[in-house]
Amino acid sequence: MTMTFASRRSFLQLGFSAAGAALVPRWTWAQATAGQQNAAAQDDPGKVQVKSTRLGDHVFLLQGVGGNMALQTGSDGLLLIDASYAPAVPRIREAIASLVPTPPSAPSQLINTHWHLDHTGGNEGLHDAGFAILAHRQTRDRLSHAQEMKLFHRTVGPSPAGALPTQIFDSTMTVFRNGDTLDMVHFAPAHTDSDIYIHFKNANVLHLGDIWFNGMYPFIDEGTGGNIDGMIAGSKLALELADGSTKIIPGHGPLGTKQELAAYHEMLSAVREKVALLKKQGLSEQEALAKKPTAEFDAKWGKGFMAPDVFVGIVYRTV
Ligand SMILES: [Zn+2]
Ligand SMILES: [Zn+2]
Repeated sequence: MTMTFASRRSFLQLGFSAAGAALVPRWTWAQATAGQQNAAAQDDPGKVQVKSTRLGDHVFLLQGVGGNMALQTGSDGLLLIDASYAPAVPRIREAIASLVPTPPSAPSQLINTHWHLDHTGGNEGLHDAGFAILAHRQTRDRLSHAQEMKLFHRTVGPSPAGALPTQIFDSTMTVFRNGDTLDMVHFAPAHTDSDIYIHFKNANVLHLGDIWFNGMYPFIDEGTGGNIDGMIAGSKLALELADGSTKIIPGHGPLGTKQELAAYHEMLSAVREKVALLKKQGLSEQEALAKKPTAEFDAKWGKGFMAPDVFVGIVYRTV
């Protein structure tokens, strides 16, 4: 089956070179061919500046290449959500240093929203910089072993010891830090089987990881537990946590609102119903694709990370 991707940028953002290696040990820029490097030089995580946006007294959004990050500052220590790709670590550290010129002496904490390398690739480098890593049990488990990313026909090798979370939880965990209460809750399998959200309750900031791709069809990693119904349930759960002024951080795309999240949830539900009906009627995946079940949504949602046909295929296979 030929995969259509919105762009090479999309492909590289997931953390894979297209060099054709059957085993991609970890994301390293050197794995891309020279031609690919030229084609996407602007996407080199080592070169892209990490921008910061203040979301509250102690909470910032950090955006570079890879998944969106959040930073909480204060005398209890730095707390970072997600770690982008390995080569981005110096850029992340620069962004933090510009916000916090004198880091607190208290230990720094990194939390991963899920196992994908656009969120955990920087784990080892940040661990070396003093961050202790916390995540869901499945994030540690999946980082510990080779993983197959079915959609991309790629196997990702195990991460080095320094990249592994040293503290894990199964369903929920609450952390009191820098004057805020952080609720962390595991989603039922959705984008992967390792997804959590982090809710800064006082700051009213919610990081959803890759449950939410704001303004575009999401990637769902069917090879590591993801499925469309989990994405629908996960976005519904997130809507219940949010109010009209909650600042909601998607894994990818711009900072969003409850209203935007609701539109995404409705789109997911509608596409699921259309594709499920075609499957129930006995249409094959190719026949279902030919019916263009997302036609009415493509203008709004189909210009981002996932091409419409790729998204429909995932929905068909996981519904
Ligand atoms: Zn991601
Ligand atoms: Zn992901």
